[in-house]
Amino acid sequence: MAFSRFSTAIDPAWFADEPRPSNACGLAIQWLGTAGFRVMAGGQHFWLDPHLSRHSLSDLAFGKIEPRLDQIAADVDAADAVAVGHSHFDHALDAPAIAAKTGARVYGSSDTLNWCRGYGLPESQLVELHGQGESFRQGPFELKAILSAHSPILAGRVPLPGRIDAILRGPARYTRWRVGLTFGLHLNTAAGSVYHLGSANLVEAELSGITADILLCCTVGRQSVPNFTRRAVAALQPKLVIPCHWDQFWRPLDGATRQIPGNDLAGFLREVADCPSAPSVRVLPIRGWAVWRA
Ligand SMILES: [Zn+2]
Repeated sequence: MAFSRFSTAIDPAWFADEPRPSNACGLAIQWLGTAGFRVMAGGQHFWLDPHLSRHSLSDLAFGKIEPRLDQIAADVDAADAVAVGHSHFDHALDAPAIAAKTGARVYGSSDTLNWCRGYGLPESQLVELHGQGESFRQGPFELKAILSAHSPILAGRVPLPGRIDAILRGPARYTRWRVGLTFGLHLNTAAGSVYHLGSANLVEAELSGITADILLCCTVGRQSVPNFTRRAVAALQPKLVIPCHWDQFWRPLDGATRQIPGNDLAGFLREVADCPSAPSVRVLPIRGWAVWRA
């Protein structure tokens, strides 16, 4: 099968995942669709931009949305913390529901935290990120929030710009989740480090001295940022790249996975292979795991 850059099909041969590791494993990553990941280290579970409550295009166009607790119950067996890189619904929607179910802390911008407050989370579970390189110790993890940028994916503009500057209660139209501040999320552990780039853009000046073993890299919208893939790999020097945000996140988690039109995952794999440092790259299926072996 030939894959043009406009193809929405996925070649199953691209997938490389492995069974869920035991809690004793040093560092492992699970992809959950969109830019959502679970990072597991030292038996603890740190979730990044989890988006399990996928809503159909007609729900998004005509309805109001809120976290789907059945989906969260099905996928979240443990959570110690959740961090959110920006406040669009497909990144921030589920954070407070996961925290309410598990007692996890939520790390996010004031925008994200205003949604968490509207959901009813107590202040004791909220930690505000400013993106000024501040860091937090969370069990075996050290989290650093680094100021980043959202890709100008919508005809050269960032979709849903602006802030969530008042408490946001659901259910609400998806347009209420404004982008807010945008961060790269750096997780350091004794077994290795991870950088989550949930939107395909970066601010190199903020990344001096920051590298990561594993780059969790948004692919959609990268064509609107010149040389995005090469620049992200050059800045962060990952040994492994795991692409994300390539799937149609308005389709059910359990259905067939299709690419967002124009995402061109095959092109992304070539772009990574062409980087001078040639990191390895792994495409995970939804719910697939990758175990880090340094
Ligand atoms: Zn976004």
